[in-house]
Amino acid sequence: MNSKHESKILFRHEEIETTIKRLATEIQRNYKGKYPLLIGVLKGSFIFLADLVRQLDFPLEVEFLQVSSYGKKRTSQENINFFQGLKSPIEGREVLIVEDIIDTGRTTRFVFDYLFGNKPASLQLCALIDKPSRRQVLITVNYLGFTAPDEFLVGYGLDYDEKYRNLPDIYILENK
Ligand code: 5GP
Ligand code: MG
Repeated sequence: MNSKHESKILFRHEEIETTIKRLATEIQRNYKGKYPLLIGVLKGSFIFLADLVRQLDFPLEVEFLQVSSYGKKRTSQENINFFQGLKSPIEGREVLIVEDIIDTGRTTRFVFDYLFGNKPASLQLCALIDKPSRRQVLITVNYLGFTAPDEFLVGYGLDYDEKYRNLPDIYILENK
């Protein structure tokens, strides 16, 4: 951790691993034999998705979308846009969105509506972390790792100003 920033561990790597195994079991139950397409929302989900797919022992595909991110700001942007949209059609596919963290829900709602408009056979959502106290729009999370308090989290793919994504554990960032 940068000396400017204070932090405390919220979820240790071992706990994250156990949680991902549990999520994989739930996902496997639903998607085995259906050749699903897992779509990670960049950048925050890249480590989570990488760990998750290695626990899934059946044929699947991986795709990514990238939406506009926080930058240095701490509050969600009202205007969300794509840096990178879909590269191939998803019509008729079993699609699972893989998100790092759901805060106000606006990003996920935007991604969900976009994908839904592309006519998948089914569309579900897997999120590593949910901060339900911050929710502004209705979101159904089908597979959820952790529920977190209203704090700013970093590590395990989550950044502050593009830093800390490489930390194996998830921290609460204080005194930024
Ligand atoms: P939402 O649109 O739900 O408010 O925000 C979702 C996105 O904001 C997440 O996908 C994530 O990129 C970012 N975000 C929300 N909360 C946090 C947080 O506590 N830490 C970090 N690093 N990013 C967050
Ligand atoms: Mg995200």
